[in-house]
Amino acid sequence: MNISILYTLLKKSTGVSTDTRKIEKGNIFFALKGPNFDANAFAPKALEMGASVVVIDDIKHFVEEDERYFLAEDGLKMLQDLANYHRKTLEIPIIGLTGSNGKTTTKELMKAVLVKKFKTAATVGNLNNHIGVPLTLLAIKDDDEIAIVEMGANKPGDIAELCEIAEPTHGVITNIGRAHLEGMGGPEGVLKTKTELFQFLRDNGGKVFINSQDTILSNLAKRFDKPVLYPNSGDFCEVTFQEANPFVKFSVEENGTVFLSHLIGAYNFGNIATALTIGKFFGVEMEKAVEAIVAYQPSNMRSQLMEKRSNLIILDAYNANPSSMEVAIRTFGEMTGKKHKMLIIGDMFELGEHAEAEHARLGEIISEYQIEKVCFTGQLIAAALANYPKALYFPDPFSFRNWLQDSNLEDYLILIKGSRGMKMEGLVDFI
Ligand code: ATP
Ligand code: UDP
Ligand code: MG
Repeated sequence: MNISILYTLLKKSTGVSTDTRKIEKGNIFFALKGPNFDANAFAPKALEMGASVVVIDDIKHFVEEDERYFLAEDGLKMLQDLANYHRKTLEIPIIGLTGSNGKTTTKELMKAVLVKKFKTAATVGNLNNHIGVPLTLLAIKDDDEIAIVEMGANKPGDIAELCEIAEPTHGVITNIGRAHLEGMGGPEGVLKTKTELFQFLRDNGGKVFINSQDTILSNLAKRFDKPVLYPNSGDFCEVTFQEANPFVKFSVEENGTVFLSHLIGAYNFGNIATALTIGKFFGVEMEKAVEAIVAYQPSNMRSQLMEKRSNLIILDAYNANPSSMEVAIRTFGEMTGKKHKMLIIGDMFELGEHAEAEHARLGEIISEYQIEKVCFTGQLIAAALANYPKALYFPDPFSFRNWLQDSNLEDYLILIKGSRGMKMEGLVDFI
Protein backbone atom coordinates (compact mmCIF):
# COMPACT_ATOMS: atom_id res chain seq x y z
CA MET A 1 0.00 0.00 0.00
CA ASN A 2 1.16 3.46 -0.89
CA ILE A 3 1.97 5.59 2.13
CA SER A 4 1.10 8.86 0.42
CA ILE A 5 -2.45 7.59 -0.17
CA LEU A 6 -2.71 6.69 3.50
CA TYR A 7 -1.34 10.11 4.43
CA THR A 8 -4.02 11.81 2.32
CA LEU A 9 -6.63 9.77 4.18
CA LEU A 10 -5.00 10.71 7.50
CA LYS A 11 -5.41 14.38 6.66
CA LYS A 12 -9.13 13.83 6.16
CA SER A 13 -9.46 11.71 9.31
CA THR A 14 -9.93 12.65 12.95
CA GLY A 15 -6.62 11.00 13.88
CA VAL A 16 -5.23 7.57 14.53
CA SER A 17 -6.24 4.86 16.99
CA THR A 18 -4.81 1.47 17.87
CA ASP A 19 -7.49 0.53 20.36
CA THR A 20 -11.19 -0.16 19.68
CA ARG A 21 -11.87 0.53 23.36
CA LYS A 22 -10.90 4.16 22.84
CA ILE A 23 -11.54 4.74 19.16
CA GLU A 24 -13.25 7.94 17.98
CA LYS A 25 -15.45 8.40 14.95
CA GLY A 26 -13.45 9.14 11.82
CA ASN A 27 -10.21 7.60 13.16
CA ILE A 28 -7.85 5.48 11.13
CA PHE A 29 -7.52 2.20 13.01
CA PHE A 30 -4.18 0.36 13.02
CA ALA A 31 -4.47 -3.29 13.99
CA LEU A 32 -1.49 -4.21 16.15
CA LYS A 33 -0.51 -7.48 17.74
CA GLY A 34 0.12 -7.52 21.47
CA PRO A 35 0.65 -10.09 24.19
CA ASN A 36 -3.11 -10.54 24.67
CA PHE A 37 -4.78 -9.80 21.34
CA ASP A 38 -4.24 -9.71 17.63
CA ALA A 39 -6.22 -6.60 16.69
CA ASN A 40 -6.66 -7.78 13.09
CA ALA A 41 -9.74 -9.48 14.43
CA PHE A 42 -11.08 -6.12 15.68
CA ALA A 43 -11.21 -4.47 12.25
CA PRO A 44 -15.00 -4.97 11.85
CA LYS A 45 -15.49 -3.63 15.39
CA ALA A 46 -13.39 -0.57 14.54
CA LEU A 47 -15.49 0.13 11.44
CA GLU A 48 -18.66 -0.34 13.44
CA MET A 49 -17.36 2.24 15.93
CA GLY A 50 -16.92 4.72 13.09
CA ALA A 51 -13.33 4.22 11.91
CA SER A 52 -12.88 5.67 8.42
CA VAL A 53 -10.07 3.27 7.52
CA VAL A 54 -8.62 0.10 9.03
CA VAL A 55 -5.02 -0.89 8.43
CA ILE A 56 -4.54 -4.60 8.96
CA ASP A 57 -1.69 -7.00 8.25
CA ASP A 58 -3.37 -10.38 8.14
CA ILE A 59 -4.88 -11.34 4.80
CA LYS A 60 -7.37 -13.63 6.58
CA HIS A 61 -9.17 -10.55 7.85
CA PHE A 62 -8.89 -8.57 4.63
CA VAL A 63 -12.17 -7.64 2.91
CA GLU A 64 -11.08 -6.73 -0.57
CA GLU A 65 -14.38 -5.32 -1.75
CA ASP A 66 -14.55 -2.89 1.18
CA GLU A 67 -12.43 0.10 0.25
CA ARG A 68 -12.01 1.08 3.91
CA TYR A 69 -9.63 -1.88 4.35
CA PHE A 70 -5.89 -1.41 3.83
CA LEU A 71 -3.63 -4.41 3.85
CA ALA A 72 -0.11 -3.69 5.08
CA GLU A 73 2.81 -6.05 5.33
CA ASP A 74 3.30 -5.05 8.95
CA GLY A 75 0.76 -2.82 10.69
CA LEU A 76 3.18 -1.52 13.32
CA LYS A 77 5.80 -0.68 10.70
CA MET A 78 3.12 1.12 8.69
CA LEU A 79 2.16 3.17 11.74
CA GLN A 80 5.80 4.10 12.31
CA ASP A 81 6.36 4.93 8.63
CA LEU A 82 3.26 7.10 8.55
CA ALA A 83 4.44 8.92 11.67
CA ASN A 84 7.83 9.57 10.09
CA TYR A 85 6.15 10.69 6.86
CA HIS A 86 4.16 13.23 8.85
CA ARG A 87 7.21 14.28 10.83
CA LYS A 88 9.07 15.05 7.59
CA THR A 89 6.37 17.57 6.66
CA LEU A 90 6.99 19.52 9.88
CA GLU A 91 9.59 22.25 10.07
CA ILE A 92 9.52 22.82 13.80
CA PRO A 93 11.93 22.00 16.62
CA ILE A 94 11.30 18.48 17.87
CA ILE A 95 12.77 17.93 21.30
CA GLY A 96 13.58 14.29 22.07
CA LEU A 97 13.60 13.45 25.76
CA THR A 98 14.87 10.28 27.34
CA GLY A 99 16.57 9.16 30.57
CA SER A 100 16.23 6.55 33.28
CA ASN A 101 14.10 8.65 35.62
CA GLY A 102 12.02 11.80 35.45
CA LYS A 103 11.14 11.82 31.75
CA THR A 104 7.42 12.43 32.14
CA THR A 105 7.90 14.97 34.92
CA THR A 106 10.47 16.87 32.86
CA LYS A 107 8.29 16.61 29.76
CA GLU A 108 5.33 18.10 31.62
CA LEU A 109 7.49 20.89 33.07
CA MET A 110 8.98 21.67 29.66
CA LYS A 111 5.53 21.76 28.14
CA ALA A 112 4.24 24.08 30.87
CA VAL A 113 7.14 26.44 30.15
CA LEU A 114 7.00 26.28 26.35
CA VAL A 115 3.24 26.90 26.12
CA LYS A 116 3.94 30.36 27.54
CA LYS A 117 5.28 31.25 24.08
CA PHE A 118 4.50 28.48 21.58
CA LYS A 119 1.72 26.27 20.41
CA THR A 120 3.31 23.17 21.91
CA ALA A 121 2.70 19.50 21.16
CA ALA A 122 3.88 16.91 23.64
CA THR A 123 3.60 13.23 24.45
CA VAL A 124 0.33 12.50 26.18
CA GLY A 125 0.87 10.69 29.47
CA ASN A 126 3.55 8.05 29.13
CA LEU A 127 3.14 7.12 25.43
CA ASN A 128 6.87 6.78 24.97
CA ASN A 129 7.56 3.47 23.20
CA HIS A 130 7.60 2.12 19.63
CA ILE A 131 3.82 2.61 19.47
CA GLY A 132 3.51 5.70 21.67
CA VAL A 133 6.13 7.74 19.83
CA PRO A 134 4.42 7.30 16.44
CA LEU A 135 1.08 8.21 18.04
CA THR A 136 2.69 11.29 19.60
CA LEU A 137 4.11 12.39 16.24
CA LEU A 138 0.84 11.80 14.42
CA ALA A 139 -0.90 14.04 16.95
CA ILE A 140 1.33 17.01 16.08
CA LYS A 141 -0.83 19.53 14.23
CA ASP A 142 0.31 21.54 11.25
CA ASP A 143 0.12 24.78 13.23
CA ASP A 144 2.06 23.48 16.26
CA GLU A 145 5.27 25.43 16.71
CA ILE A 146 7.33 23.05 18.81
CA ALA A 147 7.04 19.44 19.97
CA ILE A 148 8.33 17.39 22.89
CA VAL A 149 8.64 13.65 22.36
CA GLU A 150 9.27 11.41 25.39
CA MET A 151 11.24 8.28 24.48
CA GLY A 152 11.46 5.21 26.71
CA ALA A 153 13.65 2.16 26.33
CA ASN A 154 13.81 -1.40 27.57
CA LYS A 155 16.80 -2.58 25.59
CA PRO A 156 19.75 -1.27 23.56
CA GLY A 157 18.70 0.01 20.14
CA ASP A 158 15.26 1.19 21.31
CA ILE A 159 16.16 4.89 21.41
CA ALA A 160 18.00 4.74 18.08
CA GLU A 161 14.88 3.25 16.54
CA LEU A 162 12.64 5.94 18.04
CA CYS A 163 15.03 8.63 16.77
CA GLU A 164 14.75 7.29 13.22
CA ILE A 165 10.99 7.74 13.51
CA ALA A 166 10.87 11.08 15.34
CA GLU A 167 14.02 12.70 13.87
CA PRO A 168 14.51 15.04 16.84
CA THR A 169 16.34 18.31 16.32
CA HIS A 170 17.10 18.86 20.01
CA GLY A 171 17.68 16.39 22.81
CA VAL A 172 17.73 16.03 26.58
CA ILE A 173 18.68 13.06 28.73
CA THR A 174 17.33 13.50 32.25
CA ASN A 175 19.88 11.09 33.77
CA ILE A 176 21.50 7.74 33.20
CA GLY A 177 20.70 5.44 36.07
CA ARG A 178 20.22 1.84 36.93
CA ALA A 179 16.74 1.10 35.55
CA HIS A 180 15.51 -1.83 33.42
CA LEU A 181 18.88 -3.47 34.06
CA GLU A 182 17.53 -6.83 33.01
CA GLY A 183 16.70 -5.90 29.41
CA MET A 184 19.50 -3.37 29.07
CA GLY A 185 22.26 -5.82 29.87
CA GLY A 186 23.58 -3.92 32.88
CA PRO A 187 24.66 -0.30 33.47
CA GLU A 188 26.81 -0.07 30.31
CA GLY A 189 23.75 -1.05 28.30
CA VAL A 190 21.78 1.80 29.88
CA LEU A 191 24.50 4.30 29.00
CA LYS A 192 24.71 3.06 25.43
CA THR A 193 20.94 3.11 24.97
CA LYS A 194 20.31 6.56 26.40
CA THR A 195 23.17 8.13 24.45
CA GLU A 196 21.67 6.89 21.20
CA LEU A 197 19.61 10.09 21.33
CA PHE A 198 22.69 12.31 21.49
CA GLN A 199 24.40 10.26 18.79
CA PHE A 200 21.46 10.79 16.46
CA LEU A 201 21.64 14.54 17.10
CA ARG A 202 25.39 14.61 16.51
CA ASP A 203 25.02 12.76 13.22
CA ASN A 204 22.22 15.04 12.08
CA GLY A 205 23.38 18.45 13.24
CA GLY A 206 21.05 18.65 16.23
CA LYS A 207 21.52 20.31 19.60
CA VAL A 208 22.17 18.48 22.86
CA PHE A 209 21.41 19.80 26.35
CA ILE A 210 23.57 18.45 29.14
CA ASN A 211 22.98 18.70 32.87
CA SER A 212 26.55 19.25 34.01
CA GLN A 213 25.69 18.49 37.64
CA ASP A 214 25.21 14.88 36.60
CA THR A 215 28.64 13.24 36.48
CA ILE A 216 27.79 10.67 33.84
CA LEU A 217 26.13 13.21 31.56
CA SER A 218 28.84 15.83 31.99
CA ASN A 219 31.45 13.24 30.98
CA LEU A 220 29.59 12.91 27.72
CA ALA A 221 29.76 16.62 26.94
CA LYS A 222 33.13 16.54 25.24
CA ARG A 223 31.84 14.15 22.62
CA PHE A 224 29.44 16.74 21.27
CA ASP A 225 29.77 20.01 19.43
CA LYS A 226 28.71 23.04 21.48
CA PRO A 227 26.31 21.31 23.87
CA VAL A 228 24.15 23.58 26.00
CA LEU A 229 25.45 23.03 29.53
CA TYR A 230 23.27 23.81 32.51
CA PRO A 231 22.12 24.59 35.20
CA ASN A 232 24.95 26.70 36.52
CA SER A 233 27.94 26.27 34.30
CA GLY A 234 27.72 29.96 33.48
CA ASP A 235 27.16 28.80 29.96
CA PHE A 236 23.52 29.38 29.64
CA CYS A 237 20.81 29.58 32.24
CA GLU A 238 21.71 29.96 35.87
CA VAL A 239 19.33 27.98 38.06
CA THR A 240 20.35 27.27 41.63
CA PHE A 241 19.11 24.64 44.04
CA GLN A 242 18.09 25.98 47.45
CA GLU A 243 16.52 23.13 49.38
CA ALA A 244 14.01 20.27 49.24
CA ASN A 245 12.17 19.97 52.52
CA PRO A 246 10.11 18.41 51.15
CA PHE A 247 9.35 20.72 48.19
CA VAL A 248 12.12 21.94 45.92
CA LYS A 249 13.06 25.59 46.28
CA PHE A 250 15.21 27.20 43.60
CA SER A 251 16.41 30.59 42.41
CA VAL A 252 17.26 31.82 38.93
CA GLU A 253 20.07 33.99 37.61
CA GLU A 254 20.98 37.15 39.50
CA ASN A 255 17.46 37.52 40.82
CA GLY A 256 17.72 36.66 44.52
CA THR A 257 14.12 35.53 44.89
CA VAL A 258 13.65 31.94 46.02
CA PHE A 259 10.78 30.12 44.35
CA LEU A 260 8.83 27.21 45.80
CA SER A 261 7.70 24.37 43.52
CA HIS A 262 5.16 21.62 44.21
CA LEU A 263 7.75 18.96 43.45
CA ILE A 264 9.16 16.81 46.23
CA GLY A 265 12.77 15.68 46.51
CA ALA A 266 16.10 17.18 45.51
CA TYR A 267 16.17 15.03 42.37
CA ASN A 268 13.33 17.10 40.96
CA PHE A 269 15.64 20.11 40.84
CA GLY A 270 17.31 18.62 37.75
CA ASN A 271 13.93 18.24 36.11
CA ILE A 272 13.07 21.87 36.87
CA ALA A 273 16.45 23.16 35.69
CA THR A 274 16.06 21.26 32.41
CA ALA A 275 12.68 22.82 31.73
CA LEU A 276 13.91 26.34 32.52
CA THR A 277 16.97 25.88 30.32
CA ILE A 278 14.90 24.67 27.39
CA GLY A 279 12.55 27.60 27.93
CA LYS A 280 15.35 30.12 27.93
CA PHE A 281 16.97 28.54 24.86
CA PHE A 282 13.75 28.94 22.91
CA GLY A 283 13.19 32.49 24.14
CA VAL A 284 10.49 32.08 26.79
CA GLU A 285 10.68 34.99 29.25
CA MET A 286 12.29 33.72 32.45
CA GLU A 287 9.58 35.28 34.60
CA LYS A 288 6.86 33.39 32.73
CA ALA A 289 8.87 30.19 32.74
CA VAL A 290 9.30 30.32 36.52
CA GLU A 291 5.59 31.04 36.88
CA ALA A 292 4.86 27.85 34.94
CA ILE A 293 7.15 25.75 37.13
CA VAL A 294 5.76 27.14 40.35
CA ALA A 295 2.19 26.39 39.21
CA TYR A 296 2.95 22.81 38.13
CA GLN A 297 1.43 20.00 40.21
CA PRO A 298 2.77 16.46 39.68
CA SER A 299 0.36 13.82 38.51
CA ASN A 300 -0.81 10.70 40.25
CA MET A 301 1.57 8.83 42.57
CA ARG A 302 4.73 10.57 41.37
CA SER A 303 5.92 11.81 44.77
CA GLN A 304 2.58 12.95 46.10
CA LEU A 305 2.22 14.51 49.50
CA MET A 306 -0.65 13.35 51.71
CA GLU A 307 -1.72 14.19 55.21
CA LYS A 308 -3.16 11.59 57.56
CA ARG A 309 -3.94 12.87 61.02
CA SER A 310 -0.66 14.34 62.24
CA ASN A 311 1.40 12.36 59.71
CA LEU A 312 2.83 13.63 56.44
CA ILE A 313 3.18 10.92 53.79
CA ILE A 314 5.26 11.09 50.63
CA LEU A 315 3.73 8.51 48.35
CA ASP A 316 6.04 7.55 45.51
CA ALA A 317 4.36 4.42 44.23
CA TYR A 318 4.57 5.15 40.50
CA ASN A 319 7.81 3.28 39.93
CA ALA A 320 11.17 2.43 41.47
CA ASN A 321 14.59 1.35 40.32
CA PRO A 322 18.00 1.47 42.03
CA SER A 323 18.80 5.05 41.06
CA SER A 324 15.40 6.58 41.76
CA MET A 325 15.36 4.66 45.08
CA GLU A 326 18.76 5.99 46.00
CA VAL A 327 17.89 9.63 45.38
CA ALA A 328 14.52 9.24 47.07
CA ILE A 329 16.11 7.70 50.19
CA ARG A 330 18.89 10.28 50.32
CA THR A 331 16.54 13.19 49.92
CA PHE A 332 14.23 11.70 52.58
CA GLY A 333 17.21 11.13 54.86
CA GLU A 334 17.84 14.89 54.84
CA MET A 335 14.23 15.94 55.37
CA THR A 336 12.99 17.38 58.65
CA GLY A 337 9.73 18.76 59.93
CA LYS A 338 8.08 16.01 61.99
CA LYS A 339 9.00 14.47 65.32
CA HIS A 340 9.48 10.96 63.84
CA LYS A 341 10.48 9.48 60.51
CA MET A 342 9.53 6.20 58.86
CA LEU A 343 10.79 4.78 55.60
CA ILE A 344 8.73 2.10 53.84
CA ILE A 345 10.51 0.36 50.98
CA GLY A 346 9.15 -2.32 48.68
CA ASP A 347 10.64 -4.46 45.92
CA MET A 348 12.21 -3.08 42.74
CA PHE A 349 11.42 -5.17 39.65
CA GLU A 350 13.08 -5.77 36.27
CA LEU A 351 16.58 -6.09 37.66
CA GLY A 352 17.30 -9.70 36.66
CA GLU A 353 20.62 -10.93 37.97
CA HIS A 354 21.31 -7.54 39.60
CA ALA A 355 18.31 -7.82 41.92
CA GLU A 356 20.02 -9.16 45.00
CA ALA A 357 22.99 -6.79 44.92
CA GLU A 358 20.83 -3.74 44.18
CA HIS A 359 18.41 -4.48 47.03
CA ALA A 360 21.31 -5.15 49.37
CA ARG A 361 22.82 -1.79 48.43
CA LEU A 362 19.68 -0.01 49.60
CA GLY A 363 20.39 -1.30 53.10
CA GLU A 364 23.82 0.28 52.90
CA ILE A 365 22.43 3.63 51.76
CA ILE A 366 19.78 3.65 54.49
CA SER A 367 22.43 3.01 57.15
CA GLU A 368 24.04 6.37 56.29
CA TYR A 369 21.01 8.18 57.72
CA GLN A 370 19.30 8.41 61.09
CA ILE A 371 15.84 7.10 60.34
CA GLU A 372 13.83 6.02 63.35
CA LYS A 373 11.76 3.28 61.69
CA VAL A 374 12.57 1.44 58.50
CA CYS A 375 10.16 -1.15 57.09
CA PHE A 376 10.79 -3.50 54.20
CA THR A 377 7.97 -5.27 52.41
CA GLY A 378 8.19 -7.82 49.59
CA GLN A 379 10.38 -10.73 48.61
CA LEU A 380 13.41 -9.14 46.92
CA ILE A 381 13.91 -6.44 49.52
CA ALA A 382 14.82 -9.13 52.08
CA ALA A 383 18.34 -8.84 50.64
CA ALA A 384 18.61 -5.36 52.19
CA LEU A 385 18.39 -6.85 55.68
CA ALA A 386 21.99 -8.04 55.36
CA ASN A 387 23.13 -4.41 55.41
CA TYR A 388 20.33 -3.02 57.54
CA PRO A 389 19.28 -5.73 60.03
CA LYS A 390 17.44 -3.19 62.22
CA ALA A 391 14.62 -2.92 59.68
CA LEU A 392 11.23 -4.44 60.32
CA TYR A 393 10.58 -6.99 57.63
CA PHE A 394 7.15 -8.00 56.31
CA PRO A 395 7.27 -10.56 53.51
CA ASP A 396 3.56 -10.30 52.86
CA PRO A 397 1.48 -7.11 52.60
CA PHE A 398 -1.29 -8.38 54.91
CA SER A 399 0.86 -8.72 58.02
CA PHE A 400 2.35 -5.32 57.25
CA ARG A 401 -1.06 -3.70 56.91
CA ASN A 402 -2.16 -5.12 60.26
CA TRP A 403 0.99 -3.92 61.89
CA LEU A 404 0.58 -0.44 60.41
CA GLN A 405 -3.01 -0.19 61.55
CA ASP A 406 -2.12 -1.27 65.10
CA SER A 407 0.79 1.16 65.29
CA ASN A 408 -1.43 4.28 65.30
CA LEU A 409 1.37 6.47 64.01
CA GLU A 410 1.35 10.13 65.02
CA ASP A 411 3.63 13.00 63.98
CA TYR A 412 5.57 10.96 61.41
CA LEU A 413 7.14 11.96 58.12
CA ILE A 414 6.78 8.85 55.96
CA LEU A 415 8.21 7.93 52.58
CA ILE A 416 6.59 5.03 50.72
CA LYS A 417 8.34 3.78 47.60
CA GLY A 418 8.41 0.61 45.50
CA SER A 419 7.88 -0.64 41.97
CA ARG A 420 4.49 -0.14 40.34
CA GLY A 421 3.71 -3.86 40.68
CA MET A 422 4.04 -3.58 44.48
CA LYS A 423 0.96 -1.29 44.58
CA MET A 424 2.45 0.51 47.56
CA GLU A 425 -0.37 3.07 47.49
CA GLY A 426 -2.56 0.42 49.16
CA LEU A 427 -0.67 0.99 52.42
CA VAL A 428 -1.84 4.56 52.88
CA ASP A 429 -5.29 3.48 54.09
CA PHE A 430 -3.71 1.63 57.00
CA ILE A 431 -1.71 4.55 58.35
P1 ATP B 1 8.75 5.94 32.97
O1 ATP B 1 9.98 5.12 32.73
O2 ATP B 1 7.64 5.18 33.62
O3 ATP B 1 8.29 6.66 31.75
P2 ATP B 1 9.71 8.52 33.82
O4 ATP B 1 11.14 8.50 33.43
O5 ATP B 1 8.79 9.21 32.88
O6 ATP B 1 9.18 7.04 34.08
P3 ATP B 1 8.49 10.08 35.91
O7 ATP B 1 7.19 9.48 35.61
O8 ATP B 1 8.69 11.52 35.60
O9 ATP B 1 9.66 9.21 35.24
O10 ATP B 1 8.83 9.88 37.45
C1 ATP B 1 8.68 8.61 38.07
C2 ATP B 1 9.36 8.57 39.41
O11 ATP B 1 10.78 8.71 39.23
C3 ATP B 1 9.00 9.71 40.36
O12 ATP B 1 7.92 9.37 41.13
C4 ATP B 1 10.27 9.90 41.17
O13 ATP B 1 10.29 9.00 42.24
C5 ATP B 1 11.38 9.47 40.27
N1 ATP B 1 12.15 10.59 39.65
C6 ATP B 1 11.66 11.66 39.00
N2 ATP B 1 12.64 12.46 38.55
C7 ATP B 1 13.80 11.87 38.93
C8 ATP B 1 15.17 12.20 38.76
N3 ATP B 1 15.54 13.29 38.10
N4 ATP B 1 16.09 11.35 39.29
C9 ATP B 1 15.73 10.23 39.96
N5 ATP B 1 14.45 9.88 40.16
C10 ATP B 1 13.48 10.68 39.66
N1 UDP C 1 -7.14 -3.97 21.22
C1 UDP C 1 -8.28 -3.42 20.67
N2 UDP C 1 -9.50 -3.74 21.24
C2 UDP C 1 -9.63 -4.59 22.30
C3 UDP C 1 -8.45 -5.14 22.85
C4 UDP C 1 -7.23 -4.82 22.29
O1 UDP C 1 -8.21 -2.66 19.71
O2 UDP C 1 -10.75 -4.81 22.75
C5 UDP C 1 -5.85 -3.63 20.63
C6 UDP C 1 -4.90 -2.98 21.61
O3 UDP C 1 -5.13 -1.59 21.73
C7 UDP C 1 -3.56 -3.27 20.97
C8 UDP C 1 -3.78 -4.61 20.29
O4 UDP C 1 -5.18 -4.81 20.26
O5 UDP C 1 -3.24 -2.29 19.99
C9 UDP C 1 -3.12 -5.74 21.02
O6 UDP C 1 -3.60 -5.77 22.35
P1 UDP C 1 -2.72 -6.23 23.58
O7 UDP C 1 -2.37 -7.66 23.35
O8 UDP C 1 -1.60 -5.27 23.76
O9 UDP C 1 -3.74 -6.17 24.80
P2 UDP C 1 -4.12 -4.96 25.78
O10 UDP C 1 -3.03 -4.93 26.80
O11 UDP C 1 -4.21 -3.70 24.97
O12 UDP C 1 -5.46 -5.37 26.35
MG1 MG D 1 7.36 8.42 31.64
